[in-house]
Amino acid sequence: MIEGSCLCGAVAYRAFEPLRTVTYCHCSYCRKSSGAAFSANVRAKRGSFEVTHGSEHVLAYESTPGKLRCSCELCGSQLYAVGDKFPDEVIIRLGTVDRFDEYAHGVEERHLFPESEANAPWVGHWAP
Ligand SMILES: [Zn+2]
Ligand SMILES: [Zn+2]
Repeated sequence: MIEGSCLCGAVAYRAFEPLRTVTYCHCSYCRKSSGAAFSANVRAKRGSFEVTHGSEHVLAYESTPGKLRCSCELCGSQLYAVGDKFPDEVIIRLGTVDRFDEYAHGVEERHLFPESEANAPWVGHWAP
């Protein structure tokens, strides 16, 4: 079970069947949309996912054809994404998660498009 909500609390969601894989995506779309160096995500079965509160405040932005990045129109939190290419799953933005029961049993972590970060102007300027 996963439960999550946006920054202002207007929108809340839950998913009964999250997967135990957490992905960090370094693509430029995720950087721009999140304002962070990369996005952190967990996927769940689409059929087990529902917006439990404030669905009227969900703003869907089609960042690429068929892919919708869904955020709260009031506070701007990126909440989840759905797409034609993954019709059975929903991508949940990990930063909005309040409860993630399966995490306690261990998750697999993967990095997507790490090479894309080479295009970011700050790469190489972080002191180790
Ligand atoms: Zn909000
Ligand atoms: Zn991405």
